[in-house]
Formats: sequence, structure tokens, C-alpha cells
Amino acid sequence: MAKKPLDPSIFRCTHCESISLTLRKNMLECNQCHANFPSYQNKFTFIEVDETIVTDGLDKIKYFVKKYRKIYNLIVDIISPVYPQVSMHLRRILKKEIEGKNLLAINLGSGYTNLSDDVYNVDLLPYDSVNVICDIENLPFKDNSIDYILNVAVLEHVPNAPAAIAEIYRVLKPGGKLYCFIPFMQAFHASPYDFNRYTYEGMKIQFQEFDIKKIHSIGPTSGMLWILQEWLAMVLSFGIKPLHTILHIFFMLTTFPIKFLDVLLQYHPFAKNIASGFSVECVKK
Ligand SMILES: [Zn+2]
Repeated sequence: MAKKPLDPSIFRCTHCESISLTLRKNMLECNQCHANFPSYQNKFTFIEVDETIVTDGLDKIKYFVKKYRKIYNLIVDIISPVYPQVSMHLRRILKKEIEGKNLLAINLGSGYTNLSDDVYNVDLLPYDSVNVICDIENLPFKDNSIDYILNVAVLEHVPNAPAAIAEIYRVLKPGGKLYCFIPFMQAFHASPYDFNRYTYEGMKIQFQEFDIKKIHSIGPTSGMLWILQEWLAMVLSFGIKPLHTILHIFFMLTTFPIKFLDVLLQYHPFAKNIASGFSVECVKK
């Protein structure tokens, strides 16, 4: 089944904040400042996109991922140094709270992923599966327009994360829900930039406007393991970059099973001190 076309009445102008927009052929035009935003085939673009950067670097990955997305995700879940609690949370939320419920749900910072036909993909880059291309600090949605927002491992890459959280709050409907994962004990991972980490207490502060239902500690062993892999690769590489890459892959492949200790250790009362990250489930008041 394909995604239903997005209802253009959810958008507002990202230049003047006017909620009066008209859908014309291949574009959405602001009736106040006359800015126009390209739109075709269930894809709306609110920022300048440098297509060359994307097609050069990502074409091969895009092609590969499109064909083998499910297998690729499964391998990532198994091999990566993080026990896949977040994938399990997402499956539960999709099944119990989103699919078939006739909600407007978005995956904010979806990258190349496509979780469900009932979730629209929003990202900075124009991957094939993305429906809305925009800046997370200036979302093109009206106030109180979205029922559910998923936001996974994105805010560490946003320079001004509090501004993005404020935008999420603005566009959610009262009673609308957010699931947000942010790393804590994870090594630097630029894609393209990596700026932020939050502690358990830091998460409470960042999401204090919301009614916080639960903050999950994601894998304390995972927190240790990623750092350990990086440490071993760093020390044994003697500063030689290609050797570092090879060693990093070697240690990933040989040590990943340790993370499955988190099947139990995720429930340890001190897990939050060295968690790989935190997932908050919260509601707009
Ligand atoms: Zn405008």
C-alpha cells in the first residue's frame, strides 16, 4: 500500500508564518509573501536543496537501501554497538498507537528510513522516501497540526536542539505525542555534524514543557561497548586513519554480542549513569 497524499492544509509559510497557502501546479505558494515551495508526487520542499551533494555521496547507498532496507536494518540492529531497544519501542508504537488510527504522524529526521505507510518522512535531505524537506528549527507545519512525532537519534546533529524541541512542541496538537531518542554515552558520529549529548536529568529539563510519561535508559552495556570499540581502534591504530577504520570494523564484528547483556541490564537501577542514550515518551499538555 502506498502513502496517502499529504493534505497541503497542514502547512504554513516558513518565511512569514502565514497559514494561507495555495497549492498550484508543482508548487505551494504563500498568499501573503508569495514565497513558493516546490511540490510534486507527495514531496514538499521548504529549503534550498543542493542535489549534487546528495546524489554524489548517497546514490549508491540509496539504491542499496531501497532494495534491501529490511535486511540492512536487521543487520544494523544486530551488529551495531547499541542494543536495539529503540527499534522495539518503534515497532510497539507503530502497531499500538499509529497504524490504522487515522492520525497524522511524522518521522522527523527520517533519513532514508520508511517506517510505515502511516508515517510521513521529514528530513533535511531529499532521500527518495522523504515527503517533506525542511529545516527542523523552522518546521513548515501549522501550530497544533500533528498527532504523533517520532524523532530518533536526530537532535544530537542539530546545532540548536532546544529550538527544534520548541518547534516539535508548537506543531504537535494538544494531547499529541512525541517519542524522542537522544544519545548520552555514544562516541562522536558525524552525519554530517554531531553537537549534543544529554544526561537523564538533562532530558527532563529539555522536555519540561511536555507531560513526560517515561524516560527509557537505553543499554548501559551498549554505552560501554561503543566507547570500548573506539578506544581499542584508536590505541592500536597508532594514528593511521585507514588502519583505524579497519580496526574499528574488526572490533565491531568481534565484540557486538556483549551488548546483549542489555536484555537484562537495561532494567538495572543505575543503568542511566552510563546509558547509551535516553528515549522520552511525552505528551503536549
Ligand atoms: Zn509567506
